[in-house]
Amino acid sequence: MKSSKPDSEQTSLTSTKSLNFVRTCIENALDLLTTTNCTVCGNESFGRRLCPDCETFLNTTPAVSTKTVNNYEVHYFGFYEEKLRDFILAYKYHNHHSLCKELAKLTHNVIIAHRISFDIISYVPATKSAKKKRGYDHIELIVKQLSKMTEKPWIKSMDAVRETDQLQTADRKESVKGKFAMIDSASEMIVNKEVLLIDDVLTTGNTMSEASRILKMAQPTEIIRLVIAIKK
Ligand SMILES: [Zn+2]
Repeated sequence: MKSSKPDSEQTSLTSTKSLNFVRTCIENALDLLTTTNCTVCGNESFGRRLCPDCETFLNTTPAVSTKTVNNYEVHYFGFYEEKLRDFILAYKYHNHHSLCKELAKLTHNVIIAHRISFDIISYVPATKSAKKKRGYDHIELIVKQLSKMTEKPWIKSMDAVRETDQLQTADRKESVKGKFAMIDSASEMIVNKEVLLIDDVLTTGNTMSEASRILKMAQPTEIIRLVIAIKK
């Protein structure tokens, strides 16, 4: 199982990996020493990272239906509400990045429930500012875990080259245009493959459409889209 990264990214990637590893160790150690409240919902967790409710949620059966957005189907775990929203918020905005394993488990549950078969996993990359703010690409961490669970390779197929201008959200379709650029060296891993394209939350579907448009340039046989949550 191997990730194909452009050589130019290798050095910074190695240091980012080490940093993330150290962070995860520290965070997990601190969690064990200090946790009396659930990382996700804040309820009593009896010395564990997650409370019994949140642990139970990880075994929830995902939504059995898919949603059609912009003429394509999207598989999803559930709606962006209640417990699922808590998990995503804790992961993305409260810096509990070790929750990538739990979120990967939710995507894995969808793969099993929907009997999705694929050759390789890719993802919608975080914007540069989001990555800089968190110190890592939050979807990439989930995809790495999912790759271990499914024993399928993963690849970074595109870069986010432009920030989405939040002021232009009136026309989000326009605002995501040119947001991503294909990584040339990834093409050979994608051509003639069934690619599972992952994102965390689907709102209008325009970001997913734009990412799909870029991915198609590498001529996969199929793109299967999967998100953790869909906003109603
Ligand atoms: Zn909880």
